[in-house]
Amino acid sequence: MTADRSSIKYCSRALAVLAALCAPVVAHTQAPATPAAKPPEPAADLQVQVVRPGLNVIMGAGGNVVAWSGVDGLVLVDTGLASSEAALVDAVTRISPAPVRFVINTNGHADHAGGNEVFLRKGAVMIGVESALEHDGRDPPVPAGNGDGVAAAAGRPMITTTDTLALHVNGDRLDMVHVADSHTSSDMVVRWSDADVVALGDIYWNGQYPGIAVESGGSLAGMVAAIEAALARSTARTVVVPGHGPVSNRAELAAYRDMLVAVGRKVREAVEEGMGIVEILDSKPTAEFDAKYGGPGALVAPEEFVRSVYRDLAPKRPGR
Ligand SMILES: [Zn+2]
Repeated sequence: MTADRSSIKYCSRALAVLAALCAPVVAHTQAPATPAAKPPEPAADLQVQVVRPGLNVIMGAGGNVVAWSGVDGLVLVDTGLASSEAALVDAVTRISPAPVRFVINTNGHADHAGGNEVFLRKGAVMIGVESALEHDGRDPPVPAGNGDGVAAAAGRPMITTTDTLALHVNGDRLDMVHVADSHTSSDMVVRWSDADVVALGDIYWNGQYPGIAVESGGSLAGMVAAIEAALARSTARTVVVPGHGPVSNRAELAAYRDMLVAVGRKVREAVEEGMGIVEILDSKPTAEFDAKYGGPGALVAPEEFVRSVYRDLAPKRPGR
């Protein structure tokens, strides 16, 4: 990774409930009891990494947040958890006292859209995909009883697209692309042209298995297609911002794509042979990747990832 590193730490009072929020919905009649998602943990201090002049990645507020500062003001890509709101406002204000003009969400989960409201109340304009409106800002469903679980209704986008949209501010061009049927049905990839930075949201979980919200329109094939499209437009210089995990690059994203394809192939072949989820889990289709993506810090356990791939692929089994 060639990006500048300038870390500033801010104290956060937030609780990280990402595991529960980002994990795919886990009910499936053929599956044995699902292990609980990782319990909430105190969030680490927020960290700010400058990846290009004016482009800051804020980590620790839930999903990664990008704060883009320039002559026209601030643009935020994602806003973290509601419980991180005060810490995020503090971090953003330290980056620039200018107003936040636009808020963009890469998906509607509460760890990416939970902090929208405070910025919208101050006059920011929210941009999102059209289908996010259909779900009233609550797509996909999140665990009950969790105050952070619902991305605020105030998170309904004001400007929407079903396809692509460009924003021309701060001396650069920001392209927003709706990538349907990937992590959810309403994900958005954000790319800065001149800065050569791409924020992939939860299509990319750097260093860990992804949550695929199959019940909310997510699919492995859609995720891989979105990554392929991002790779096609990236070079060795491109800064790749994942939804979770450290700031990344093209080579790491390509390795991640290879992992998704390999695990998907194994689960697909097993499904086509008529294997059920218990047998598939026993066959450990992620084994060769667990050291890299299934470590103790991972939000989605290998088994949970395999279950989501199974829920995606099993109904598509030939002959069904
Ligand atoms: Zn997330």
